[in-house]
Amino acid sequence: MKVDVHTHIFPPEIVKDRSRFFDGEPMFQALYANPKARLATAETLMAAMDEAALDCSVTFGFPWKNTELAARHNDYVLESAANYASRLVPLGCVNPLAAGALEESERVLRAGARGLGELAVYEQCDESTALACYERLIECCRAHHALLLVHANEPIGHAYPGKAPFGLRFYYALARLARGLPLILAHWGGGLGCYELLRREVPEALAHVYYDTAASPFLYRPEVYRHMVEIAGGERILLGTDYPLLTAGRYFAEMAHAGLAAETVEAIAGGNAARLFGITR
Ligand SMILES: [Zn+2]
Repeated sequence: MKVDVHTHIFPPEIVKDRSRFFDGEPMFQALYANPKARLATAETLMAAMDEAALDCSVTFGFPWKNTELAARHNDYVLESAANYASRLVPLGCVNPLAAGALEESERVLRAGARGLGELAVYEQCDESTALACYERLIECCRAHHALLLVHANEPIGHAYPGKAPFGLRFYYALARLARGLPLILAHWGGGLGCYELLRREVPEALAHVYYDTAASPFLYRPEVYRHMVEIAGGERILLGTDYPLLTAGRYFAEMAHAGLAAETVEAIAGGNAARLFGITR
């Protein structure tokens, strides 16, 4: 079973003319003004999944500031998942800081989303304000037995569009708030996982955290797989491609040369996600 837990799809009208949606959405513009930054519909995603022999993808939209647009996008994700019922798992996406984020989260979880994701605050923002906004969404997920997938990135190194300003303290505080709830921290958790080596407090606080591999070929050397398996264990690492940023083939090629046991590769490539999301063939 091969499962990709991190894909983005957009409604055809946004894919056709993205520039119409830049107004009032500086982060969407920052990430997608470059025409080389691809946008995909559900159909394009399905074709890429067939090509890579992926059984299933977890898919979601974008954290729009405009909650109406977020709702329209979430509806598209839900409809697509209904059209490809055994192959797409929908998450609802909101901007945690947006007015109406909680109401939209409630709505989309009631309508069948399996969780919220990829939640992100890309703009400069006070960390405690952001945490308070996340806290209500965490409680909403708890009430719906839903899971949470949150963007995380390394606090140092080169700058790129979509690199959020928060540091490890923020993601650690978030993980503590979400205790008991499955929490997927994207992009290897921005390095937070390394601190699972600490003797006290942290391993317990991060026990429910999963790390996805999204954008790994752009960010890390392939040895990251081996090190993260040693530190966090192979059962909490999930293949995420960030499609259409990258396709699954790049990740499979890296994993094949990362010096991992065959059963660990299988777990990362889908076994863990199948268990977490209750996906059966
Ligand atoms: Zn991300």
